[in-house]
Amino acid sequence: MANEHPEGSIILDTVENVVGYLKQYSVWPTTFGLACCAIEMMAIVSPDTDISRFGGERFSATPRQADLMIVAGRVSQKMAPVVRQVYDQMAEPKWVISMGACASSGGMFNNYAIVQGVDHIVPVDVYLPGCPPRPQMLLNAVITLHQQIKGEHLFGSTRKAAARAAEEAALKAVPTHEMKGLLA
Ligand code: SF4
Repeated sequence: MANEHPEGSIILDTVENVVGYLKQYSVWPTTFGLACCAIEMMAIVSPDTDISRFGGERFSATPRQADLMIVAGRVSQKMAPVVRQVYDQMAEPKWVISMGACASSGGMFNNYAIVQGVDHIVPVDVYLPGCPPRPQMLLNAVITLHQQIKGEHLFGSTRKAAARAAEEAALKAVPTHEMKGLLA
């Protein structure tokens, strides 16, 4: 494992490995769905997919006892402040999976009513393509997130710095109504 800690490196790396292993299998998602993708998200607890094998079946009805937001569905402009409030109320450290084309980019809803990518309002850790993504694809996204979580450093501000950088990049992004796309 890469060592960024000059002192006590062996002990710190061992603790980080153990804590990372425990953290990745104790992620609690929020009970939170916005559109049709949410139906596929619900199926992740079914016997076919069975996210409980990875410790994630405990969906929390309150954001204060959750650390994973699965944005399942298109985000309307009216819903955006609510999504952000739920994110702000979640426990630290917290992660976000953007599920489906609509959450990641607005999808087919290229209009003024839909946020053109949820990364405009919250930092995203894993983007999941598809319309709709199948529950197996969501499970794969969760496993990808687990690998990211396991690699996160216990000490230092790596995670917070990355989230802050992602938020600043989102704030500086060109507004959708100013994008020319193929018409430029
Ligand atoms: S990506 Fe497809 S399934 Fe998901 S919310 Fe959009 S339209 Fe619905």
